[in-house]
Amino acid sequence: MRTGFQFRDAPIRRKLMIIIMATTATAMLLGCFGILTFDSVLYRANLERDLQALAQITAGNSTASLAFNDSKSASETLHALRARLHLVTACLYEADGTMLARYVRASNPEPCPPPAPHDQIRFGDRDATVSYTITMSGKPIGTLMFLYDLREIAERRQLYGTIVAGVLLVASLIALLLSRSLRGVIEDPIAQLVKVTTAVAETGDYGIRATRVSADELGLLTDGFNEMLAGIQSRDNRLTRALIDREEALRDEKKARERFHFLAESMPQKIFTATPEGEVNYFNRQWIEFSGLSSEELRHLGWAVILHPDDLDADRDIRGRSLETGEPYNLQHRFRRADGEYRWHLTRVHAMRDEEGKILMWIGSNTDIHEQKEREEALRRANDDLQQFAYSASHDLQEPIRNVTIYSEIVGRRYKGVLDADGQQFLGFLTEGGRRMAMLINDLLAYTRAGAADVDVSLQNSNTVLQQTLAGLAEAIRESGASVTHDVLPQIYIGQAHLQQVLQNLISNAIKYRADEPPKIHVSAVNVGAAWQFSVRDNGIGIDPQYKEKIFGVFKRLHRDQKYSGTGVGLAICQRVVERYGGRIWVESSAGRGATFHFTIPRYAGRLQRAAGERADG
Ligand code: ADP
Repeated sequence: MRTGFQFRDAPIRRKLMIIIMATTATAMLLGCFGILTFDSVLYRANLERDLQALAQITAGNSTASLAFNDSKSASETLHALRARLHLVTACLYEADGTMLARYVRASNPEPCPPPAPHDQIRFGDRDATVSYTITMSGKPIGTLMFLYDLREIAERRQLYGTIVAGVLLVASLIALLLSRSLRGVIEDPIAQLVKVTTAVAETGDYGIRATRVSADELGLLTDGFNEMLAGIQSRDNRLTRALIDREEALRDEKKARERFHFLAESMPQKIFTATPEGEVNYFNRQWIEFSGLSSEELRHLGWAVILHPDDLDADRDIRGRSLETGEPYNLQHRFRRADGEYRWHLTRVHAMRDEEGKILMWIGSNTDIHEQKEREEALRRANDDLQQFAYSASHDLQEPIRNVTIYSEIVGRRYKGVLDADGQQFLGFLTEGGRRMAMLINDLLAYTRAGAADVDVSLQNSNTVLQQTLAGLAEAIRESGASVTHDVLPQIYIGQAHLQQVLQNLISNAIKYRADEPPKIHVSAVNVGAAWQFSVRDNGIGIDPQYKEKIFGVFKRLHRDQKYSGTGVGLAICQRVVERYGGRIWVESSAGRGATFHFTIPRYAGRLQRAAGERADG
């Protein structure tokens, strides 16, 4: 086991040497062993034939000596065998077994083997015994016995063994020399691969290549190894490039962040940033000064600790929705100052995105609008008072105006004959003035009501509200031959009466200010950011662009002639309603080319108003 392990771990050079030597020696040994075996078998067969012939010849020469019992000539015949160096003893027996003659080699005196009954050659370890029956006229007259020394075989084996050992030695030497000079063919490419591997491991340079020496399997191995290195090198290059890019990106990102923080620190506004998931991770210095909290405290305690408790729900609601949709949002709410006072802020939050539109972070600014808010509040209160006054005044004026109209009509009827032409004309002016005054006061009332807060805000299907509006305008539509079409309109949070008021004013104007052909009116709505934008398009007389702002003023009219009756309050009402929800209204038109009125309703404004209303009710 241990030897095997050592062999396995031995250097290739030694392994090759051992394999070559072992193979050569085994082949040589097997070859020599084969030759020896073959030689010994052949030698034995030859010897057997030779001994048989010798016995036969000797027997033939001895037949007469036996027949005449002539031991002298028999001895002479046997003595002639001394030329055969390995023949030790030869004996001639008569038929009764008495020995007639014998020959014994002086250098190796051995007793004569007794006569055997059959002809045979019996091989022993050291010698072979030959018996041959001598016959005359078919009758056995004696037996010839040889004892043959087999040491010749051992000598031959010894000789061959020595030759084999010599050949083996010489062959091994040649094999050793050959293997030394030839092993480079195998060893060198492998040694080179090892060298390249070590160099790559030590230097980390995947550009090193092994040289292909031959076209055999080792050549293929070298190619494969080089290809593998090339693969690793290109992957390594890509990895390095990616790492460098990443590092550069990180550096750029860090620089950009530092620049952004520098900018944020030097701005008068409060600035914060949040992760794409909405987790706030930065507040600027203004925030820290305002709140009296450290950056860590602000980050860990979150909005709950600085927002007015009444504003928390709306904030969570809008922020959650914005996180879901990725849309920006604006919100007014109160933050607590270090001295405990809550101050109104306008918060604007936008998502910063990468080229693919993926949100990188949220950036928010919080502007202190407390003074502005207070002024607005004072203005709103003054406005409310004014409205209340206008409402009461117009309401109280209705009665005397109605009296003026009624009584001027009565005077006109009763004293028709008494009044001269001038008087009748003046009375006519009085009646018309009264009627017009009544109309103005009615519209003024509608205008003041449009700003009133008592409208029920709920989720309205704009399609249904449009249908109700069209039903109310059925007569005007029929008379004018107008066709009103519309897209599928959205569901929005709004007071039903408000939406109807706006649609009715815009559609009735589109009918009223028609050109010569029958009016074609189309109502549509699209989603723009955080609001729905409604549009009412007509093919009427259009508006000169220089008046496109003026027409939204109260009592502002472009037409004074009888053809287009009105008070100039309709669009002012529309503007009032739309602005109440935080939206705006405008017109796109040019004279003679129809007009399109657009108005927006922020999607969550109505909902927040409703939520605020519910909280106030609760
Ligand atoms: P009124 O229709 O009672 O005059 P409005 O406030 O509704 O008052 O409109 C103000 C003015 O705007 C109108 O006098 C008219 O000149 C102009 N106007 C409104 N709607 C349209 C329209 N669809 N096409 C052309 N002009 C219009």
